Amino acid sequence: MRIAVAKEIEASERRVALIPDVVSKLVKQGFEVWIEAGAGEKALFNDSDYETAGATIISDTVSLWGEADILLKVSPPQQREDGSSEVDLLKEGSVLMGFLNPLANPSLIEQLAQRKVTALSVEMIPRSTRAQSMDALSSQASIAGYKAVLIAAEALPKYFPMLTTAAGTIAPAKVFVMGAGVAGLQAIATARRLGAVVEAFDIRPAVKEEVQSLGAKFVEVKLDEETATAGGYAKEISEESKKRTQEAVTERVKNADVVITTAQVPGRKAPRLVTEEMIAQMKPGAVIVDLAANQGGNAAYTEPGGNVVKNGVTIIGPINLPSSVPVHASQLYSKNLVSLMNLLVKDKALHLDFTDDIVDAACVTHNGEIRNQRVKDALQALTVNS
Ligand code: NAD
Repeated sequence: MRIAVAKEIEASERRVALIPDVVSKLVKQGFEVWIEAGAGEKALFNDSDYETAGATIISDTVSLWGEADILLKVSPPQQREDGSSEVDLLKEGSVLMGFLNPLANPSLIEQLAQRKVTALSVEMIPRSTRAQSMDALSSQASIAGYKAVLIAAEALPKYFPMLTTAAGTIAPAKVFVMGAGVAGLQAIATARRLGAVVEAFDIRPAVKEEVQSLGAKFVEVKLDEETATAGGYAKEISEESKKRTQEAVTERVKNADVVITTAQVPGRKAPRLVTEEMIAQMKPGAVIVDLAANQGGNAAYTEPGGNVVKNGVTIIGPINLPSSVPVHASQLYSKNLVSLMNLLVKDKALHLDFTDDIVDAACVTHNGEIRNQRVKDALQALTVNS
């Protein structure tokens, strides 16, 4: 069975789907591994590292895509320089794995179905205990949480830690993290390591202990409704609850030097947590890093990929932060992909068991069909609106 790793053509993407260490394990297990020439370069893995690990370096993109049994990618297939699509390079019956962004880009999923490709989208892997080793959204969100704090520290015209010096005492920076899921918890941990005083807020009371164990204060707001699904995901909250949470967080936002926002409800536009009125009351020099920039933003004024300054407050909307830590992002992502592959391949043959909840959720196309109802609905909505 041949596993191939494509070179990412999205200009800002520096990650690679497999790193040499992981390739060497796959080769030892008897897989043939093809790496497109230069695929690991932006993550600082050279072709020679892959060759030493037992991979074959392939310069011809068309052969690599067309002769792979399993094609591994980071970002979704793209349009090529000559105007053709990477999807058309895939062999019928082959498997594609990567971040395919299926709900935002259902037309791509339709193309993959038409191409009769079995596509597995890592975003659709459930966040269950059994799926933890394959949970690429989490491994990458954690990197985003870490990097968000470094970006904030860089933009803040102050120190993060408390310092007692001969020239006087410096007060620690006040950091307020909104949304304490995977990215938020790593943001809390990173801000604490830099010496900031950290407060955090989330609508799910279940995260209180995790927040406290990282040395941050949890801002508690009693809401008269269930805020999480049975699976532990956040639910969209009522207008009344939104009002109550806004009242509770306004004072914190106003006093913060740094606000990191990471709130999301799966499948929904990002909830608006920091309003124009709140920003008008913030201290000049304060910084907001909005990780939900690509989902509509948790803060007013956020521009995806941009920096905006309002009343002296800098609002930063970074996108694709994991790509800015390409070595470790690729390392973690490689392990996620191999764990997922282990579910699909038995005795070096493809064995798709749709009674397995992880395979069932992640596999978005098979045998010419779109398998996921939410993707079908997104495609239908696109057709209706066009
Ligand atoms: P997550 O689902 O683990 O965490 C989101 C948290 O937000 C949950 O704990 C949820 O309870 C909370 N939440 C929902 N509604 C809320 C509200 N109204 N008020 C307060 N909290 C609320 O998600 P994650 O994996 O940590 O990702 C967080 C965000 O970061 C997402 O928007 C994701 O797309 C984004 N992200 C951005 C980058 C980047 O490079 N910019 C990279 C990875 C992830």
